[in-house]
Amino acid sequence: MTKRLADKVALVLGAGSIGPGWGNGKATAVAFAREGAKVVCVDLDVEAAQDTAKLIADEDGVALALRADVTQSDDIARIVDTTRAMFGRIDILDNNVGIAAMGGVVEIEEPEWDRVFAVNLKSCYLAMKHVIPVMVAQGGGAIVNISSIASIRYTGVPYATYYATKAAMNHLTATTAVEYAPKKGRVNAILPGLMKTPMVEKSAGLAQAYAGGDVEGMWRKRDAQCPMGHMGTAWDVAHAAVFLASDEAAYVTGVLLPVDGGLTVKF
Ligand code: NAP
Repeated sequence: MTKRLADKVALVLGAGSIGPGWGNGKATAVAFAREGAKVVCVDLDVEAAQDTAKLIADEDGVALALRADVTQSDDIARIVDTTRAMFGRIDILDNNVGIAAMGGVVEIEEPEWDRVFAVNLKSCYLAMKHVIPVMVAQGGGAIVNISSIASIRYTGVPYATYYATKAAMNHLTATTAVEYAPKKGRVNAILPGLMKTPMVEKSAGLAQAYAGGDVEGMWRKRDAQCPMGHMGTAWDVAHAAVFLASDEAAYVTGVLLPVDGGLTVKF
């Protein structure tokens, strides 16, 4: 396969995985590297970021692991500076960090509302705020924001903060795309459907909401919801991210791309 991201430098936020297996960020970081990008793997859990960077290095790719809390402007500024110092530029930003917290508007306490908004939405704003000027100065770049089909559907689980933050991320994506189109800054979003990732297994309350706490029961229910009869994987998200980050998508911006096996068409 040709190296579709050759000579590009990618920043993947949330490039670790909360548990064994492949989360969207980890798969995306590895997929970027396989296509020739130098990848900066950022995570709150630096050991998880180092695991991803090691996987890349073991395949003769180039990767750097950094710790950052993406809700903190200073942390984002630091990783941007470090990336530029190490690799000279930033061509791709993948905003993958996101958490799910159970509860509708009545159940959610204010601190939880603020926490999920910080992790899911403020992080995206902060990362774009710090990275876009770098991209503009170097003549362009590609941003991929990881949203969710929960931004456009009620998925059967009561998590108001998740719905609201992902919906806001969609419009932030689209409007920022238009604003920066003249400067060759492309901004797109991926809306993953029901994916089988470690985060879903570990998210507090998800298995409870699906199947009374039975993780296998949750997987069966999620498989059954999907038109193809099975959930997607982190690689489905990663491959879409490679396309949106690559020059093949040079005329694609402001797009909200469902990667959901047809789920949002059916429901
Ligand atoms: P993931 O990529 O395996 O994990 C995301 C990583 O983000 C974790 O390693 C986590 O670290 C890290 N993180 C959390 N808070 C952070 C912070 N403040 N600063 C830096 N890093 C932080 O998770 P995933 O399930 O595959 O989901 C990734 C994205 O896809 C999310 O935005 C999610 O909303 C979206 N998505 C997932 C699905 C699905 O079915 N899996 C569906 C639709 C959308 P810790 O382990 O230390 O917390």
